[in-house]
Amino acid sequence: MAVTTGNPRAFPPAPPRAARAALALVCLAACRRAEPPSLLLVTVDTLRPDRVGAYGAGDVRTPALDALAARGLLFEEALSSTPLTLPSHSTILSGLEPPRHGVRDNGTYVFPESRETLATRLSARGYATGAFVGAYVLDRRFGLQRGFAAYDDRIERRAEGTSVLESERRGGAVVAEAQRWLAQARAPFFAWVHLYDPHAPYDPPPPFGAEYAGRPYDGEVAYADSCIGRLVAAAQARAGDRLVVAVTSDHGEALGAHGEPTHGFFVYQATLRVPLVLAGPGVPRGARRPGPARTADLAPTLLALAGAEIPPGLDGRDLLAGAAPREAYAETLYPRSFGWAPLFSYRLGTLKLVEAPRPELFDLGADPDERDDLSARRPAEVARLRQALAAFRGADSPGAAPAPDPEAAERLRALGYAAAAPAPPPVAGHALADPKDVLPSFREFEEASWAEARGDVAAAVAAYRRLVGREPANPVFRRSLAAALRRLGRKEEAAAVAAVGGDDAVLAHERALALAEAGRIEEAVRSEVEAIARNPLLPEPHNHLGVLEARRGRSAQALAALTEALRLDPNNAQAWNNQGNVLRALGRAAEAEAAYRRAAELAPAYADPLNGLGVLAVERRELEAAAAYFARVLAVDPRYGEARLNLAVVEASRGRPAAARALAEELARQEADPALAGRARAFLRALPP
Ligand SMILES: [Zn+2]
Repeated sequence: MAVTTGNPRAFPPAPPRAARAALALVCLAACRRAEPPSLLLVTVDTLRPDRVGAYGAGDVRTPALDALAARGLLFEEALSSTPLTLPSHSTILSGLEPPRHGVRDNGTYVFPESRETLATRLSARGYATGAFVGAYVLDRRFGLQRGFAAYDDRIERRAEGTSVLESERRGGAVVAEAQRWLAQARAPFFAWVHLYDPHAPYDPPPPFGAEYAGRPYDGEVAYADSCIGRLVAAAQARAGDRLVVAVTSDHGEALGAHGEPTHGFFVYQATLRVPLVLAGPGVPRGARRPGPARTADLAPTLLALAGAEIPPGLDGRDLLAGAAPREAYAETLYPRSFGWAPLFSYRLGTLKLVEAPRPELFDLGADPDERDDLSARRPAEVARLRQALAAFRGADSPGAAPAPDPEAAERLRALGYAAAAPAPPPVAGHALADPKDVLPSFREFEEASWAEARGDVAAAVAAYRRLVGREPANPVFRRSLAAALRRLGRKEEAAAVAAVGGDDAVLAHERALALAEAGRIEEAVRSEVEAIARNPLLPEPHNHLGVLEARRGRSAQALAALTEALRLDPNNAQAWNNQGNVLRALGRAAEAEAAYRRAAELAPAYADPLNGLGVLAVERRELEAAAAYFARVLAVDPRYGEARLNLAVVEASRGRPAAARALAEELARQEADPALAGRARAFLRALPP
């Protein structure tokens, strides 16, 4: 019988148990309450917290960071465990301190395959993962790319200058790539974006340069903040309110504190203190935490926010659960590359020990700037903290030193080279000079490097020479002098400087470069083979050996060396171009084309691979394509005489003698290389009137 009442029941009758369960599942899927949040991790390199508005800076505009802090949680005292970019980022991503993940310095260590990171753990949980980095020091070849489906490290290497490790790209370029990725990323995603801008040399782009005239570091910070604003908006457009944002830095900047200009040399608070701000679902709103937080705590905290279990064995812990950590470890092994003592620090509560040949003890509660060394007055506290530091470093295994993988060693043996592992870090280092005592030399060295970067190579040479006189066994001083002498064209002198000074691999490579420029090819090969024997993991000696072997006409050996360089450093545009040249000489045109294309893609302003592509097009008789390539070479580098002559030849072949004549006449008039100018004149004579 039909129900005729005009009062329908307010609630349907309860469904049976099985049906209820099914309805709950439908709701979970429909309401998406169980969906884990997306994560955006931003690391702003070299960012001092006192330059951020939310941390009290009154005269630097950081609206994006301030807005995050206002709707999230700010840690008033966040600490890095090392003032070095690659080791510190290894800690941020892994939740492990440097003795545990084993990455102790920039440029020579590789993050081990055996360790997990946020990227490996979150990608295993189904997250879309992407990383966008602003400096070569975080290039994929150093191992942090594992777990990221996309790892954007396309940074053009500086051909000249002090160090390839200094190569960087602007935050705007990094963020543009991240925005492109975010626009198509599916949720949940984990994106890591690294902005290198506040790192020296400070050179803020317009309008920040003018706005912060005389304060270029602050200008870089304000610029980086403007990039963060765009980035957070792009991530939010994709993830909505299911987005957790974390912003921190890998280390601060001393700006003269304790006599240190930048960072990396000491382990004082000026370079260990960093900002740390979290915002999003699961994070308290508008809150501040006074107690210490370590960058090692970030990975477990983000895993917990993502709803993942925190794996055992991490050094860091979930900052949103339980009390603030009382202890904090820090180290820098950077002084060791100069032959000086590494530094370690350990902190319990407000007491901090700096372990060095002459240790120091500070009470950060009363003396936050570490001006009053208490070590002589409180020896019992020194002993207690030393013990705690030793206990922490107990796991500091020699296995942490980089070792070539067996496959690489085998490849090297096949090439006729002995594989030698770099020396493991010394455990005590007390026989070495205390960095405090050699600070004047270090400052002189930094100033000389900046002079060289500005183009004042003669001043740099004079300073490096003084430093080598003071410390003849210091490999960094010696190789810097040799490199600067080479830039001045004083090749024989450079080779002589690099011929002594211990078993440093880079020094042997530097000598090989000088010998090659001096035309002493056989000796250059021997020196490069020695560099490889000292450290087979550096790509540059393999790359240069490939060039030398090609010059000696040994194509197979050249190809093997270049292949090894590219295995170690797949983003090396010069090595790709060199490989293109060898393959072209061997008649392997298709492979040569691919190698040149890879080089041109990695470095759009690099003229050599474009010229190579033009030559290949000529060989295929595709004159229009060839002309376009040579024109691109000249757009990038108008002084590239070889390409100008190539274009003249192509224009003549295309029946455009006037264009050909104009190009060749200009070359004959302007070219500094007499051989090339002579070829241009010969071409003009052969050209029909
Ligand atoms: Zn850094």
